[in-house]
Formats: sequence, structure tokens, C-alpha cells
Amino acid sequence: MSATAESRELAAVIGLEVHVQLETDTKIFCGCSTRGEEDEEPNTRVCPVCLGLPGALPVLNEGAVEAAVKVGKAIDADIPEETTFHRKNYFYPDLPKDFQITQYDAPICQDGELEFSHQGARRLVNIRRAHLEEDPGSLRHVRDGPADLENRIVGIDRADYTLVDYNRAGTPLMEIVTEPDFRDPKEVRAFLEKLEEVLEYLGVFDSTRDGSMRIDANLSIVDADDVAEDGTISKAVLEDANRTEVKNISSHKGAEKALAYEETRQKNLIKRGKAVAQETRHFNETHGSTVSMRSKEEEKDYRYFREADLPALRVSGWKEEIPIPELPDARRERFREEYGLSQEAASKLTSTKQVADFFEDVATEFDADLAATWVADNLLGELNYRDMQITDVTERLDEFTRLVELVATDEITAKNAEETVLRTMLDEGLAPDEIVEREGLGKTDDDAVVAAVKEAIEENPEAVADYESGEEGALNFLVGQVMAKTGGSADPGTVNGLLREELA
Ligand code: ADP
Ligand code: ZN
Ligand code: MG
Repeated sequence: MSATAESRELAAVIGLEVHVQLETDTKIFCGCSTRGEEDEEPNTRVCPVCLGLPGALPVLNEGAVEAAVKVGKAIDADIPEETTFHRKNYFYPDLPKDFQITQYDAPICQDGELEFSHQGARRLVNIRRAHLEEDPGSLRHVRDGPADLENRIVGIDRADYTLVDYNRAGTPLMEIVTEPDFRDPKEVRAFLEKLEEVLEYLGVFDSTRDGSMRIDANLSIVDADDVAEDGTISKAVLEDANRTEVKNISSHKGAEKALAYEETRQKNLIKRGKAVAQETRHFNETHGSTVSMRSKEEEKDYRYFREADLPALRVSGWKEEIPIPELPDARRERFREEYGLSQEAASKLTSTKQVADFFEDVATEFDADLAATWVADNLLGELNYRDMQITDVTERLDEFTRLVELVATDEITAKNAEETVLRTMLDEGLAPDEIVEREGLGKTDDDAVVAAVKEAIEENPEAVADYESGEEGALNFLVGQVMAKTGGSADPGTVNGLLREELA
């Protein structure tokens, strides 16, 4: 480092630890449900195991292991024959046993990777490990006062006391740890979006659940000269750099913001010749800033040791039988090839697995272009406008297919289909035929008769000429033609009138 502190070119280095809630019916070590009612009472979804009562023994949830194996396959990780559980010891009121059951030196997924695109370029981030663990309970810090409890929840620094709820304790989590491969907070957001997309495709994750993804973001600053041409940085430099860990960020955008703040804060310290303290920081979502929480804990603080109540887990032989669905990148590519869709349409139609499935169901019945327009443009557009999701209409696939059919068979105009029928379907929950009937949108019988009259005139110039030269009998011939065209459904008197009008 020859340059002075002030003139050094600096670069950010970022690594993530992402905690994701796995979608299982029951908790990871007991039979308690993972799904709480909207307004559930605290401490009602608990049992001796997840309350950590003496003598209670954990039993590993098969569903959580299956979900972890799926994640491992999706990120191309090694899934070792045998994997083990450890106790991570620390005292905190949300942790009823005073230790968390987690994985340590033999995690279920090792050495994976995830590709994503950022600003038009493909990026690959290495995933060091992804392991199973249990979620702790949740705390509510409360201030004394006359108001309802809900209005007295405050930050820990202002609280008079703290309430603890163990309903969440024992929810299965996967902690996904990346290598410090990110160089820019914006990349982190793109990565998290991709990760979420993959997890949702796998059916192991629900992004709409509160707190289902929580991110710890590590950032350090190095000399730009230490970053090689291909973006890599030596181990020694990485270990040397003092880094901060911003804990418990709850959104992709929050992660980007917290890291951007940290990058600026650390660079400013270095430029002023000051040292960056290795510490744990808290992200204040409203201020968009981070504050120091504590000096960083070290591994030895946790006294990791084997969880003796759980035997080693062997997944070999079993893991081969756990299938994973086609993942988003592959599906996008297939949509482009199989249905001849543009990049943009293929992206929209694979934005979630549910959208992609919905599209493919519609595309089995109609031309792919028509199906793509109706799902990608019309349906997704109208849903988006109403803040609705595809999952709000997946049950109504038949109704939607019927709507497209009405357009495809020319029974209603595309304009009416979109502006009236589709919108009313979403706003009022009616079926397309009911709406067509109520609004009188069908191309009516009258229209069909008028069309038949015009056709009959066009097709029979001789009869027309005869009629025009005064031969009334020719008109009867034309009436007969129209009656034949409408299958006899038209009223002869009306037809007669229409013909006279048309020929006048
Ligand atoms: P610890 O043992 O302190 O938890 P790890 O080596 O396990 O540290 O890494 C934890 C996280 O910190 C990982 O996500 C990793 O990518 C990230 N990390 C490691 N070194 C750096 C660094 N120099 N700058 C930023 N992040 C880093
Ligand atoms: Zn329980
Ligand atoms: Mg760590």
C-alpha cells in the first residue's frame, strides 16, 4: 500500500448470511404447527419440546430435511452422506433451551453456487454452506402506560419490560452463507431476488410470510488494487479486512440500503485515517442508517458441541428420490424455444412458478401468442393494478380459459373481453358468460342476421338485379337465402324488412 490513506482507491467486499423459513406443516423438532392464525395468542402453539422443558426430546422433521435437500440441489451444492447437529450455546430470553440446535462442521449443503443477472451481466456467487436450524421465539419490548398493549410496543432502548412469545420457536430455518463475492450493494438485491425466486419455485418458501427471510450482511473495505482482474480477492486480504455485520435485515431493499450506508461510512472512516471496528450493527429501517450493537461475537463464545439427542442424519440413498421442479432459468429458456416467446414475455411468464403453470395451462388450449398476450399482458396487468396475485385466480383457470375462448371464437370483441369481462371477473368474481349476458356483450342474433343479409346480397347479384328491375319474387328468393344462412332462426318478416332497407 504505497498511496496515502486519503488517495487510496477503495472497494467494498460483501458476504451474506440469509435465514429463510422453510415451508413445512410442523416445527423442525416437534409436532407443533408452523402456521399461526392471523391474531393468535402468544404461547399457544407450543409444547414441551419447543419450550425447552426438562426431559423433552427433539425429533427431526422429515419435511424440513426434504426441503433442505431441494435447496441443496437447486444451488448445486454437495450434500454429504452424513450430516450432524450441534448446540450453539448462548443465553437470550427468546431461546428457551439456552442453546439453538443448528449445524456446525457438517452442514447439509456445502459448496454451492447461484447465478443471477445484474445490469445485463451474468454473475455467479459461491455459497459456502447452507444448514438447518431452529428459529428462536420472538420478543416484544413494551413501555408502561394506559394505552392498549399494541400501542406500547417500542424499541428495546425505551422499554420498561419485554414479553416473549415462543410460537415461532422451532420453526425450521435454513441459513445460507455466501462467500464474500459481492462487490456492490446493488448486486446483493439482485441476488436476493433470484434466491427468493428459486426457493419459491422449489415450494419450500413463502415470501409473503412476515419475517420469512432475514439477512445478516457483512461488509469490509479493501484496496481496489487488491481486487484481481477477475474480481477475486486473496484469502489473506479478506481475513485482514475489518468487517461489520449488519444483523437481521428484513427486506431486499433494506439489505441494499444498509450496505450502501455501511460502504459510505467505512470508506469515510478510512479516508480520514481511522480504523473500522469489527462489530455487529443494527439497521434502522426508518433512518436508513446502521448503529453499533456490540463487538462481534466469536465462534468460541458459543461453545459448539454435538447435539447428543439427535443421531447423525444420513441422507444418501434418500436424497436421490427427492425431486425438484424445473427452475426459473431453465423454464424461461424452454418458454422461448417451445412457445417462441420474446425474452420479455418469457421473463414475465416465469416470474413465479404459479404464473408459469397458469400460462402453460392456458397455452395447451390456444395458440401460444394468444395465451401469452392474455396472461402476460392482460391478466397480470389487471392483477397488478388491483394489488392481486396470480394465486388469487389460480382456482379460476377454467373461467379465464373460457374468456380467452370467447375472444378466440369471435363471440365477443377483444376490447370488451379485456375492458369489461376481465375487469368485472376480478372486481365482482362473476364468470365470463354471466358478464357477457348481463352486459349484453355477445355479438347478438341481430348482428348475425344483418351479416347474413349482406352476404346474401353479395352472393346473389342476379337476384338483386331482378329485384331492382321490379321483380318482387326475387326478394323472396333472397329471404330464403338469409333464412338458410341463419339456420332458420331469423324472423322472415324482419329479414324481409332488412333486405328492402339494404337494397333501397
Ligand atoms: P464468522 O466466522 O465470523 O461468522 P465467516 O468466515 O463464517 O465469519 O463468514 C461469515 C460471513 O462473512 C460470510 O457471509 C462471508 O461471506 C462474510 N465475509 C467473510 N469475510 C468477509 C470480508 N472480508 N468482507 C465482507 N464479508 C466477509
Ligand atoms: Zn412444539
Ligand atoms: Mg458465521
